[in-house]
Amino acid sequence: MAEELSNRVQPGGSPCEPGASPARAGRPIIVQKYGGSSVADVDRIGKVADRVVAARRAGNDVVVVVSAMGKTTDGLLALARQVAGAGGAGADPPRRELDMLLSTGERVSMALLSIAIQARGFEAISFTGSQSGILTNDRHFDARIIEVRPFRIEDELARGRIVIVAGYQGMSYRREITTLGRGGSDTTAVALAAALRAERCEIYSDVDGVYSADPRVVPDARHLPELDCAVLQEMAECGAKVVCAQAVEWARRSGVALYARSTFDAAPGARETVVRRFASGTAPPTIAARAIVAEANVVLARAPLGLRLDALLRAAGELGVSFRDLSFGPGGGAFVVPLLNMPDWQGARRQLTALLPSLELVEGLASVSVVGDGLTATADPLTRFLDVLERAGIVPRFTVAGPLRLGALVDAADAAAAQRLLHASFVEG
Ligand code: ADP
Ligand code: ASP
Ligand code: MG
Repeated sequence: MAEELSNRVQPGGSPCEPGASPARAGRPIIVQKYGGSSVADVDRIGKVADRVVAARRAGNDVVVVVSAMGKTTDGLLALARQVAGAGGAGADPPRRELDMLLSTGERVSMALLSIAIQARGFEAISFTGSQSGILTNDRHFDARIIEVRPFRIEDELARGRIVIVAGYQGMSYRREITTLGRGGSDTTAVALAAALRAERCEIYSDVDGVYSADPRVVPDARHLPELDCAVLQEMAECGAKVVCAQAVEWARRSGVALYARSTFDAAPGARETVVRRFASGTAPPTIAARAIVAEANVVLARAPLGLRLDALLRAAGELGVSFRDLSFGPGGGAFVVPLLNMPDWQGARRQLTALLPSLELVEGLASVSVVGDGLTATADPLTRFLDVLERAGIVPRFTVAGPLRLGALVDAADAAAAQRLLHASFVEG
């Protein structure tokens, strides 16, 4: 059983063994993660290699986690769907085979980056997730890391090598290759940083940090130089893909500091966002909106009067359907199904409807949220939230409110306008 394996580092638990390999020269360890756009072509891989070499020259031990090149993962997924569809039965590709396929994307990047670094005269070695000791549960496509045993990485650092790790993947205790959910290279990086007791984890992408909204959608989004882990985790869990949610969870629990930076802006003093776990209870409670977040491709499930919650949970568990914002009462209930990590939704939908014919599933929706602090301390923030949507003629199909988040499901076509209007009211206003 996974739980019976001796844990080196788990989120929430303290590291079991002090320090990295005693053979290391006492250099600080830096973990750097480069996303798909950062390694999209030969030229960019060369620029990443230069950055990595500079960090090594500055006297650090460097572990680099890479994503698949550009949109490789989307391309492989489309290929799998094409092959599965060619069978004629409208089948979804099996999750296990998807993991075998998708994990190859990151292996291409790791080998190419290692070659580029060696071409610059530095010693480097690449490792897959399983070689790096990333052990996961046995759920395919969105596995969770349960343990990290980075012995081979420590040995290679002790030999003076730069270590390149394929992100987004691990191995289950059944020795199956797993992937960590879309955007999961971030999780690899933070979990490794925790296990190696790295000084910090630097997340490089095409943006110079975290903004008060997705800058591609909200042109007036503000750069956030500093952010609390809890706020970023809430943002990530409801769709802000700048850092993935499981990664922030590892950072919050292990205390690793995250630095979100742009790969393409290497100037000294370039902007960045520093994400830390702040001491709680020291500041007076405030009511403050920090960011607007959206998630495309979510389903609203409505359960009528009489449908039992235990029957619903059993069906969701059997079909691997994850959900959030579930509320249930004597009059019925509702919950939200995010589809990002449901490659087999078509099949799951058919089976769910067969098992629970009265469950209503509404597709074509997006969720929009205001994330911050104290948002339910008074009724005002929620009143304003609903007011902004109503004045724009946007009908919320489902509304949730908690201290860290106000959220609504809206028609997907209204999501961009809703983000801009909520940003103008809550962040700029
Ligand atoms: P990578 O491939 O490097 O992991 P991602 O595409 O996963 O990068 O994440 C970076 C993208 O996240 C940006 O291009 C931006 O459009 C998007 N994004 C969404 N919300 C935010 C936000 N609040 N702040 C910054 N970027 C955001
Ligand atoms: N390549 C994977 C994805 O596209 C993982 C990642 O980029 O972090 O989701
Ligand atoms: Mg990402």
